[in-house]
Amino acid sequence: MDMSVFWLVYIGIGIILAILFVIKYGYPTGTQTSVTFSFGEAKEYFFTKHYCKHCNTQLKRSSTKAFKGKGWSKSAVDGEFMFGEKYDMKFSLKCPNCNANFNLNEVG
Ligand SMILES: [Zn+2]
Repeated sequence: MDMSVFWLVYIGIGIILAILFVIKYGYPTGTQTSVTFSFGEAKEYFFTKHYCKHCNTQLKRSSTKAFKGKGWSKSAVDGEFMFGEKYDMKFSLKCPNCNANFNLNEVG
């Protein structure tokens, strides 16, 4: 076998293995979102109506993602490590009338 053909086959097999790996496991990157929310807070947030302290309008729920940085983390789903961006979900209540923002513990 010619030496150049050998390397071509060698690289070809490498590419095929890489493609198979991606098909099986997916790209080892992703976005991680963690939610810090107790059961009581969740109940309060989704099932209780809150009103604005300033104008008494019913508040609307809004959630924001806070960027926490990049890094390796253990995936909670399948126990595999992945590299990705980490976000923290933050929940707040917004007044549609005067645009005031409230935290849950401010109105609860
Ligand atoms: Zn208001």
